[in-house]
Amino acid sequence: MYLKDLSNPYRTHSAGELRARNAGEHVKLAGWVNRRRDHGGLIFVDLRDRWGVTQLTFNPEIADAFTTAEKLRPEWNISVEGNVTQRPAGNENPELPTGEIEVSVTALKILNPSTTPPFEIDQERPVDELLRLKYRYLDLRRPRMQENLIFRHRVVQHMRNYLVARDFVEIETPLLTASTPEGARDYLVPSRLYPGQFYALPQSPQQFKQLLMVAGFERYFQLARALRDEDQRGDRQPEHTQLDIEISYTTQDEILALIEGLYVDIVENHTGKRILQKPFPRLTYREAMERFGTDKPDLRFGLELKDVSEVARTSNFRVFQAAVESGGSVRGISVEGLGDLSRRDLDDLVAVARTSGARGLAHLKVSQQELAGPIAKFFSAEEANALKKALGAKEGDYMFFVADKNMVVFDSLNRLRLHLRDRLGLVDQEVLALCWVTDFPLFEWNDDEKRIEPMHHMFTMPREEDLPLLDTDPLKVTGQLYDLVANGTELASGSIRIHHPELQQRVFSIVNIPPEEAERRFGAMLEAFRYGAPPHGGIAPGVDRLVMLLRDEPNIREVIAFPKTQAARDEMMDAPSVVTNEQLRELHIAVRPSREERRSSALRQTPEEAGKSP
Ligand code: ASP
Repeated sequence: MYLKDLSNPYRTHSAGELRARNAGEHVKLAGWVNRRRDHGGLIFVDLRDRWGVTQLTFNPEIADAFTTAEKLRPEWNISVEGNVTQRPAGNENPELPTGEIEVSVTALKILNPSTTPPFEIDQERPVDELLRLKYRYLDLRRPRMQENLIFRHRVVQHMRNYLVARDFVEIETPLLTASTPEGARDYLVPSRLYPGQFYALPQSPQQFKQLLMVAGFERYFQLARALRDEDQRGDRQPEHTQLDIEISYTTQDEILALIEGLYVDIVENHTGKRILQKPFPRLTYREAMERFGTDKPDLRFGLELKDVSEVARTSNFRVFQAAVESGGSVRGISVEGLGDLSRRDLDDLVAVARTSGARGLAHLKVSQQELAGPIAKFFSAEEANALKKALGAKEGDYMFFVADKNMVVFDSLNRLRLHLRDRLGLVDQEVLALCWVTDFPLFEWNDDEKRIEPMHHMFTMPREEDLPLLDTDPLKVTGQLYDLVANGTELASGSIRIHHPELQQRVFSIVNIPPEEAERRFGAMLEAFRYGAPPHGGIAPGVDRLVMLLRDEPNIREVIAFPKTQAARDEMMDAPSVVTNEQLRELHIAVRPSREERRSSALRQTPEEAGKSP
């Protein structure tokens, strides 16, 4: 960066731009003291700003500056004036772009001193995350975090330019609104003007973007915040950003091609990563489940699942037979390169399979063309061959099997597959295996609540040919639904939408929303569809996850400027926090003490008081 304003009182140049060709120039720089070293009568200071680091030298002959420099500590903010000098031969620092030069300071001004920071800014050392989040403004000074956020900015800018070039219109939709369900709990905001009533913060702009199609904008996008009050697991955040997109008169193919083009562009223009396969492979939901046990497959490596239910059914191994007889299946994967596993190694693998409810994990090793392992005796030579063949197992390979209900089999083998990926180092971090998963079921069965739920959300259009199944067997209906997946992470979800009020009503009633409730919650949308609503569809790629993946960060907090902790708190701003009684009164809200508070105040009561209390 070149700061063109030579009359700026603080600086004429950035700390990242001076080179040997600038030698002899008189410059001003401003920024933080990254490090100070006293050396052979000279003081060296590394000055840091957003663009880089420049070495300053203070000579005792310039007494004023030198004495002030003696006071400097890390993170003091200073402005200096001085001459660019080429460093003596042998003293260059090849690590720094500015390493050929230094600035001999003639004047130093302390703009603001700094208390000793709670962690070092100039070093990438492990720091407790809570501390980093509490002092996020210091954490963000670190080069890695600066790079993450600037990278994010470039990706977002690219998204904007790409869509604007294709005639999309960026439109903002409200934050204070009524609930749009995406399967999570709403964040609610009490209304002061309407006692007892609440706004809901959007879980996504879903209804608005569809209404914008009814309104005739045809191609909409927004970098939208989605707020979902979910239990915090893994890399979830109470608020995340998505590139919300909706298009009229569109098809699934158009949307997939649009997003595919955008992602290829972003990866190829902003990263050194390689996309494994272009065009992105497309898998149906069913194929993804059968081959990988998940609808978010990591296609960077093999270890595909194979169904051996046929062999299992006729074998003498009771566990296998029983699983197939009760409507489940037996599936397995074959793994090479494991050598000889110890009892303990095998127990670890069983534990991985059990986390998703599998009762066990059977194993067989191919050894001298035979099968070895505790269950080998249950299989005839013919069955042994059939198992090897089904799994493509060779000499020395291990075969692992799970026999259970299909969902348990899928889930546990998926986990095992990912565990082995990490254990055996099967993937290249620089490769991105992007793929589309399509043809999801429209609904799924929620066994805990014993009811049918939408797989994505309830505005998704069923496949034309499945419409009759809505009345007879809704769980068999396929939705016009698609997900973009990369390396086992879901990056985007979308669908072609319903645009007829009657069909929308039918879907509401299948997911158990009676007409009056549908009218109350989604009345605007149902009514809008009665005014010549165009066919439309869309998608919403997540921004945080994409940036996380492209930057090789372990979680999305590393690519969000001010994230919440895993306990959903903002440590820096101390939110959520209590508010004044006056604020509560205005909102017509009375806060009930929590159960713990009630219990501890009961304990504080004297026995007499306790006796008197009603
Ligand atoms: N609203 C959906 C979501 O946030 C995305 C979409 O269907 O466009 O997951």
